[in-house]
Order: sequence, then C-alpha cells, then structure tokens
Amino acid sequence: MKTDFRRNFYEVTQQQFEKAADVMGLPGDVRAILAEPKSVIQVNFPVRMDDGKLRLFQGYRIQHNNILGPYKGGVRYHPEVSLNEVKALAALMTWKCSLAGLPLGGAKGGVQIDPTKHSRDELMRVTRQFTHALGTTIGVDFDIPAPDMGTNAQTMNWIMDTYMNTVGFANRNQVRGVVTGKSISCGGSEGREKATGQGLVYLIEEWAREKRFPLSKATYILQGFGNVGSWAAQLLHCLGARCVAVMDHKGCVSQRDGIAVGALVQHVKASGSVDGFPAARAISPEEFWATEADLAIPAALESQIGRNVAPAMRVTLVAEGANGPTTPDGDEILRSRGIEILPDILANAGGVMVSYFEWTQNKNSEQWDLEEVDAGLKKKILRAYSTAKQAMERYKTDLRTACYIVALDRLQAAYSERGIFP
Ligand code: NAD
Repeated sequence: MKTDFRRNFYEVTQQQFEKAADVMGLPGDVRAILAEPKSVIQVNFPVRMDDGKLRLFQGYRIQHNNILGPYKGGVRYHPEVSLNEVKALAALMTWKCSLAGLPLGGAKGGVQIDPTKHSRDELMRVTRQFTHALGTTIGVDFDIPAPDMGTNAQTMNWIMDTYMNTVGFANRNQVRGVVTGKSISCGGSEGREKATGQGLVYLIEEWAREKRFPLSKATYILQGFGNVGSWAAQLLHCLGARCVAVMDHKGCVSQRDGIAVGALVQHVKASGSVDGFPAARAISPEEFWATEADLAIPAALESQIGRNVAPAMRVTLVAEGANGPTTPDGDEILRSRGIEILPDILANAGGVMVSYFEWTQNKNSEQWDLEEVDAGLKKKILRAYSTAKQAMERYKTDLRTACYIVALDRLQAAYSERGIFP
C-alpha cells in the first residue's frame, strides 16, 4: 500500500506555500526566508539491540521557523522517514501554529525505524539515544517535540526522562515541558491523547452545522486507526455517525451497517491492525477508496489521495486528520467534483493546541481539568476555521490556500514589525 507520490511530499507542500504566497502577494524577503528551514539536524546514533549487537540509526530534527515562538512539532518513527519528508512536516507545523494563533514555531523530527519490529526495550534505547544525540538542540523554551506517527506518550516520557537526567540537578523540574504528549503521571495534560481526533471532530461538527447536515445519520470511511483515527472514530461514534470502512498498513475492512468501533479498538490493541477484524468483510484498497459514504477521514500517511484515488471517491467531505494526505492533483480533482476539504493545517491542529496547553501547564505547575482543555481546544479550532473562511471570501480562494494565507500573514507581520537582524 506504498504510494509513489510520497517522495514528492516536500515539493507538494512547497507548491501549496508558493500558491498562497502568490495569491496574497507575500513580500519577497519573507517568502525567501520561509521557503527554507532555519536548521537541519541529522544524527547517526548506535543502539544496542536485544541480541547484543549494535545497530546504527539515523534521525532528523528540522527546525523550520521560530519567529512566533519556540520550535514545536512531533517526532515520527517510520521505516520510510526521509529528510525531505521531515522538512515538509516541519514547514506544515510553522503554518499550523501560526494559523492556530499559538506563540510557537514549527519543527519536526523523525527516525528511520519500524516500531512494530522492535521490543519495548529496544524502542526505549533508540529513543534515549536519539534524545541524547539531539542534546541541547531541543529545549523547553527552544524546541519542544511531541508524538506523531509511530510514537506515543511512552516515547515522550522517555525523551523527557533522558533530557531531565542530562541537565543540571536543580533544573530538572523546570524542563518537564521539553516534550508534550506525555502521560498524565509524567506531567501530561488531560485530553492530549484524544486532542487531534477531538479537534477534527469539533471541526466536522461545525461544518455539518453550517451545511445542516445531520451527523447522527452520517457514514464515513477512515484511513489509519492509530491515535488520530481511532479517537476520531470513537468520538464520531458518540455522535451517531457510522464508520463503514477502515484501512490501515496491513489491510482494509468494511461493514455497511457500521463497524463496531469499540470492538475494533480492542482488536487493534491485541493484533496491531484492523486486518482480520471478525465483524467486518475484508476489502481491497481500491474498494476502500471507492466506498460510498458522507465523509472520508485520511488519518495515516501523506500523499494518499492523488490522481488515481480522487476520481473514485464517493464522499461529500474529506477531513484531513493526517498531514498532507491529498496531493495538488488530488485537490484539483476533488474540488472539480464538488467534494469539500477541511485541510490538514486546520483540521489536525487540535494536537498542537493541547500540546500548547500542556506546555503552559508545565510552566505554571498547573493541572487543568478535561472540561477546561476541551473548551479551550474547541474555541481555538473554531476561531481558526472562522478566520480562514474570512480569508477564503476575501481572496476568493479555496480553504487550504486561505489557511496558508492566514498563517503567512501572521508570520509576515512579525517579520515586518521586528525587521530582519542585523
Ligand atoms: P499512529 O502511528 O498512531 O497511527 C498511524 C495509523 O496509520 C496506523 O493505523 C497505521 O496502521 C496506519 N498506516 C501506516 N501506514 C499506512 C499505509 N501505508 N496505509 C494505510 N494505513 C497506514 O499515527 P497518528 O499519530 O495517528 O498519526 C497519523 C497522521 O496524523 C500522521 O499524518 C500524523 O502526522 C498526523 N497527525 C498526528 C497528530 C498526533 O497528535 N498524533 C497530530 C497532528 C497530525
């Protein structure tokens, strides 16, 4: 299920940036600065495997921009992680944080590793060695990692613990916020685990309200049943929407009457995949994408909806849980077919919004309750949506380009008011 487009992901995000910069008339100096990441860090680090042998791993941290605040962005563990992929994801974080109105910049990290092929101990040593190799290039007020594909709260706990143990004794508790997405016991925030799925669902609810579209009768197809996908599914289930097909790295399953989401969560926990889920029918990836439904939620990899998938889709809305799931060709095709898109930098911003809340709580030694976190998330994501819709009207453009314009406008205001040093 590997796609050919993935290697072009960096060019795709650059194209989206250039398009918005043209539409809004972004000044040349700011355009040149934002077109490239500020720092590119590549580390090679040895890790002892369970069989006693050493293996060398390669990892990246790309710090795209920090004019609005400290660098912020996830760490991805995936066998196909590449420098260009991480560069693209880092730039998306700059746009996402700016669109969300957060005082944060954009970064991303990645390690070339298949986490499903390693023991918990090996993953812990890889994470600790990666953190050690990054050293002080990350920091609580400088660059703050978070979970992404293939990483989770446990990974963040290990990063925090390694980092804490390498700074001075007296400073340990001041650097708890060096990563977000930690478990609650280690200083994480209520609501962070579900935050990306929750933000996505708040946005889908708002879209449905505007369109007078009854979500309680809606059906959807879902690619990816990890953090983002499984939470979106559980929250949509509470609203009465039915998941009619799911796809992950191993297989696709379908059930016209609606997949039992709770049972699927248990199945994936036990087996690692949606494949083989007994209460559904196995289908091919082609059948998955052509399944008729109201919504499609891509929540796995980038560049999934392109020239060969977009013409077959039979949905009304694509809500992008994943980063970069739709290629520019896919975008054109969906739009020409009247299929709406809630674009990634808006639709999956819930994760970084609650990461920001976690960072703030750590700084102030606070612990907010879930209601407070959810209310803050809803307010922020709906405000970002509303601002983007205003830009869409003003520039007579599509929602993705409008989201980029709002983000670029804030960044360019900071550059023009501060000036460029020296
Ligand atoms: P995850 O590792 O928890 O889950 C990933 C899911 O994608 C799994 O179900 C996996 O089986 C599936 N998958 C992997 N390769 C696939 C393939 N080739 N075809 C089909 N399915 C495949 O990851 P996640 O944290 O849920 O992240 C998913 C997406 O959401 C990524 O694009 C990530 O960048 C984006 N995102 C995540 C967060 C977050 O808070 N975790 C925030 C914003 C955006």
